[in-house]
Amino acid sequence: MFSLKKLALAAVSVAALSAPGFALAEGMVGISMPTKTSARWIDDGNNMVKQFQEAGYETDLQYADDDIPNQLAQIENMITKGVNVLVIAAIDGTTLSNALANAKASDIKIIAYDRLIRDTGDIDYYATFDNFKVGVEQANTLVAGLKERFPDVKPWNVELFGGSPDDNNAFFFYDGAMSVLQPLIDDGSIVVVSGQQGMDKVGTLRWDPATAQARMDNILSANYTDKQVNGVLSPYDGLSIGILSSLKGVGYGSGDLKMPVVSGQDAELQSVKSIQAGEQYSTIFKDTRELAKVTVGMVDAMIKGTEPQINDTETYNNGVKVVPSYLLQPVPVTAANLNEVLVGSGYYTEDQLK
Ligand code: BGC
Repeated sequence: MFSLKKLALAAVSVAALSAPGFALAEGMVGISMPTKTSARWIDDGNNMVKQFQEAGYETDLQYADDDIPNQLAQIENMITKGVNVLVIAAIDGTTLSNALANAKASDIKIIAYDRLIRDTGDIDYYATFDNFKVGVEQANTLVAGLKERFPDVKPWNVELFGGSPDDNNAFFFYDGAMSVLQPLIDDGSIVVVSGQQGMDKVGTLRWDPATAQARMDNILSANYTDKQVNGVLSPYDGLSIGILSSLKGVGYGSGDLKMPVVSGQDAELQSVKSIQAGEQYSTIFKDTRELAKVTVGMVDAMIKGTEPQINDTETYNNGVKVVPSYLLQPVPVTAANLNEVLVGSGYYTEDQLK
């Protein structure tokens, strides 16, 4: 039986521990992000640190400079430090199995953040956006742009770019986009003049803008000396910047050479400004504040022994199991709705977009 004295003492020590300086953390969360070269991952990291701390967790946020051994070492270090949870946006989704087996052996909960981690049974949940729909919307905006900018051209000459083949998302984006574009290729409305189709031909390792720029340079010099390109499917704003530089380099966007319609993703500030300037045509807004919120909710539920909220139990088979997921909705953005979506949601201020 508990004595009153013991209860009182327990109450005193809990009060002491929760006094400032003795915060009784709910747990420690290791957050492993891929790179700082893209603003979205910086925002993701900051949003999570803020929201986890507000929910009473300690955080250890690390960026891996797009280097796989670096990310592995950072994750192993987090495990050694005794984190209770790992939240990971993988560089290469197939290289983490051993590290995650160690984490599971220490009873650490694991969330795949935005990018699916493959070939492991050890991840608990996946928080992401509807990645197939991202691709569908990229292609929808591309086609809308072709109709708007090149109403009299038939067929439209279009080139295709994919994301990094070691990122599971890249295949979802590409497949989603091709679900819209392939029927138009089949009925002759669109021609891929280079003939380069399929992720094995159009993938861009590590999402590297310079790689995309060089590939666009090659495509233009090999196929477009006597033709004009009308559209480019680009899966990420960083690649779009490289592609647009290549196009501008040979004179597109001035004189008779209208700028082709170029898609994107992430609503990064530089690309949003490019859309305002009439260069890039579209991007896809994925609210990283919401993704952080979903992730913090999942972690908190797991730590407190309740069921995390999920809305998809079918789509994301990682090669070992179908990972229970929460998919947020992506929002297509063009010059027409840019202010409403990005300023309206408070993602950017009006001043930033001036
Ligand atoms: C993310 C995209 C991002 C890309 C490059 C993907 O996994 O889902 O939002 O554009 O990585 O960083």
